[in-house]
Order: sequence, then structure tokens, then C-alpha cells
Amino acid sequence: MQKLTITSTTQNRQYDIFKKCHTPGKSDEYKAKGIWPYYKTIYASEGPEVNMEHRSIIMFGSNNYLGLTTHPFVKNAAARAIKKYGTSCSGSRLLTGTIDLHIELENKLANFMDKEACLLFSTGYQTSQGVIQPLVGRGDYLLSDKDNHASIVSAGLIAKGLNTTVIRFKHNSPADLEKQIQKIPSDACKLIVTDGVFSADGSVVNLQSFYSLAEYYNIPIIIDDAHGFGVIGDGGRGTANHFNLQDEISLTFCTFSKSLASIGGFVVGNKEEIEYLKHYSPALVFSASPSPASTASALAALEVLMKQPELVTRLQQNARFVRTHLIDLGFDVPEGETAIIPITVNEEMGLKLWQELFDRNIFVNVFVPPATPAGKCLIRNSVMASHEQKHLDYLIETYKYVGQKLGII
Ligand code: PMP
Repeated sequence: MQKLTITSTTQNRQYDIFKKCHTPGKSDEYKAKGIWPYYKTIYASEGPEVNMEHRSIIMFGSNNYLGLTTHPFVKNAAARAIKKYGTSCSGSRLLTGTIDLHIELENKLANFMDKEACLLFSTGYQTSQGVIQPLVGRGDYLLSDKDNHASIVSAGLIAKGLNTTVIRFKHNSPADLEKQIQKIPSDACKLIVTDGVFSADGSVVNLQSFYSLAEYYNIPIIIDDAHGFGVIGDGGRGTANHFNLQDEISLTFCTFSKSLASIGGFVVGNKEEIEYLKHYSPALVFSASPSPASTASALAALEVLMKQPELVTRLQQNARFVRTHLIDLGFDVPEGETAIIPITVNEEMGLKLWQELFDRNIFVNVFVPPATPAGKCLIRNSVMASHEQKHLDYLIETYKYVGQKLGII
């Protein structure tokens, strides 16, 4: 009998699940134009300056907000942890993957955020899923901002699979949130989830208004504070603190991959809720715990942040400098208070602008449709506390030159 082989290179793609992989997409379009700002390899990093394409590039596209990934104290802590515990915990927290550093970091984070308890996860992405999935179930309603991070969107898909109704309300719109709430049976369990600081444009959630609604309708709010922690709030304590609502927000969750100079994530809240997540969160129970090196580096970064809150002030000053100067130059930049400074241009111009900056040794992130509205492109400048004045001045000078050259300003 002839052997039946299933191959992704089959000629008849009508019933081929891999067909999409072989169909040219937007990325092929951009590559054909010779401008490709993604998957760039970094060969070495000194923080604000990295080696890309074997030349020194000033990094304005990193989430390393406090600049701690290259801090000697943080690097030494990671090295010491590898020496003591090895390179991996090789198991989930539930079984063999808990080390004393996990507990120490959880205690310090809970303390720093003035909450009763904390739980670590292995990535920020998993943290969103690990927090949301166990909280929702059949008949519940998850209200999620349309611009929430992809990790929350994907947690919403899991929630749908659990027969929860997921409602995505208009971005940062208390009016739409209220409209949606009013459509839900009043006796159904509901949960509001929002980014604290939205990752594409750096805007801050309208938390005061959301909280007023949440209080009126008796719905808990949980916040993903990936871009707020270490950036806003007293000493970098994040969005809820920024609005003086830290006691009112049920759970705050966050990644280590931004201000905490590592990889992993955490959630803080009250003891019972954290204890529940500890036992019912598949993303926690069925995944290996954060490695000794990542745990030690997040712990060391937190210690630096606690000892040197002036890093947050420096970050805010740098961000203000860049934002003000870009606005003064005439770029389309919104007012704001976070370390993400977006410039909106048309799609074609965005890639040209990115290339002109990159040719002059500056790396920024560029978002194109469908991540942005059709025809629009967003250049995301991310500022770090470790940028020196010379980096900021060079960025602004270069924007002035290329902005004029391209006729944007
Ligand atoms: N939430 C938000 C708002 C984010 O911006 C990110 C990362 N870009 C994540 C979650 C996921 O975090 P990580 O990359 O650490 O998995």
C-alpha cells in the first residue's frame, strides 16, 4: 500500500492548514521595499547604546525604562544566582520550582506595592493569562479595553472558551464602558481589565472615571501595569498609585521585562485572592518557574529602584525633554507623562522616517497596520533613565533634520 504523507509543501493548498504560511503577506511587501525594522539582531548592549548591524546604535526602542539591565549590581546578582542554584529551576512553583529567591521577591514586591501578597509568573504574557483565566467562568462577563495588550486579548479568548462573555469597550472610554455595563444582567459576575499605561501610545488609563463607574456598579478593576510600574506613581509604584487608588484596585499585574530588567511577571493583591491564583492558575501550575538568574535580577532591580527613586525622576525628566522638543519641532505627538512618546505619520512616511533614523544610528519602534488604523503609522520612542543628555540632544537634532528632509515638519 502506498504510504500517505502529510506535507506542508503540498501543491494543492485548498485544504491545507499551512496555506497561510505560503501566501505573501504585509511583511513581504515591506521587505520588498527594502525597509525592514523588525527582528534586528543585537550583538552587544551597554544599555542606551547597542551593537546592531555591527555599528553602534542609540536605543530608543527598549522597555528597559530604568536602564537596569546593565547595572553592575543587577548583573552580579544574576551571576551569583546561577552559581548558587544553576541555570533553571526545572519545575513549576507547585512542585520542584520554588527557590527562596522567589519568596523573597514576592515579599519585597508586595511590600513595595503596599499589598498583602504577591505571586510570580514566568513571563508577563503568562501573567495576564494566569491572572484572568482562573477568575472567570461560565456566565461571567469580562470587560476589556479595546487597546489592551495582546496578552489580555488572548486571555479573553481563553475566557470565551470557558463560556465567559468578553466585551471589548472603546479605548479609554468611561462612557462606552458604562454603556456596555448597562447591557449586562445586574446579577452577573463582572470584571474590568485594563492596561495602566497603553503600550503603543503610552497614554494613561482614565482610572479615576473608571473607578467611579466600577464603584457605582460594584465591579472589580484589575490593571496590567507593564508600562506604568517604575515609570509613574510615587517612586515608580505605578498607575493605581499615580491616581491614589492603590487600595481600590483589586489586583495589579506586571511584567519584569521593562523596569525590572528581567523576564517574568507578578501580581499583587490581597492574601486570599493571591492564594486562590496560586492553586487555580494553569499558567503558573503547569509552567516552570522564573529562572534563578531572572528572579535574582528582578529582585536586584527592585532593590535599586527602592534605594534610588531618583531614577524614576530622571526617567520622567528625560521623557519630558524628548516629548516637549518633538512637539516644538511640529511632530504629531500627544501630551503625556509616560516614557513612551509616539509620533503619528502616514504609513509610507513611517517606514521612511524609521530608515532615516536608523541610517543615523537611532533605533525606534515602528507600528504599522493592522496594529495601527489603516494608512497610519506610529513611531514609538521609548526613553530610559540611562539616556544621557548627549543621546537626547542627538535624537532631537536628528528628528529635526530628517523631519525637514521628509517634509513632515
Ligand atoms: N502586558 C503589556 C501591557 C505589555 O506591553 C507586555 C510586553 N510588551 C506584556 C504584557 C507581556 O510581557 P512580557 O513581554 O514580559 O511577556
